[in-house]
Amino acid sequence: MENIYTDLKILLTDYLTTQKLRKTDERYAILEQICLFPSHFDICMLYDRLKETNFRVSKATLYNTLDILIAADLIVKHQFTAKSIQYELKAMAETHSHLICSMCGAVREIRDSSLKRDIKNMKISRFTPMFHTLYIYGMCSKCKYKLQKNNKGNTKQ
Ligand SMILES: [Zn+2]
Ligand SMILES: [Zn+2]
Repeated sequence: MENIYTDLKILLTDYLTTQKLRKTDERYAILEQICLFPSHFDICMLYDRLKETNFRVSKATLYNTLDILIAADLIVKHQFTAKSIQYELKAMAETHSHLICSMCGAVREIRDSSLKRDIKNMKISRFTPMFHTLYIYGMCSKCKYKLQKNNKGNTKQ
């Protein structure tokens, strides 16, 4: 995802300039690592990734930079469940919907072009849609299997 970083780097520079924020190496290094994630990531994954590249940043810097990247419209924050907060590139977020298992918190992506088209064609008065993302909550196949197995076990007793 080298080209996406090149594009986003320019957008980040624009944002930092207009907001009169410092253009620190950390902020760019964090964005670069984010561009390497194929999809969602949480703060621990990002922290570990930076550590592997020998780029030492504090968790405070990390949170602060993520807030800047959200404000700059480059990434989005997902609160999938009460415990699970994940992030992803905004350019990626609109390409799929999210299937979230309410039991284990696993997140899967599905691409549904007809759904995307329907949302785009929706006529909404006095509102201009700019971005959407969809969460569908349910049960993943692993949890469903476990549940069925447990239920069978219970009925035998
Ligand atoms: Zn996503
Ligand atoms: Zn599950």
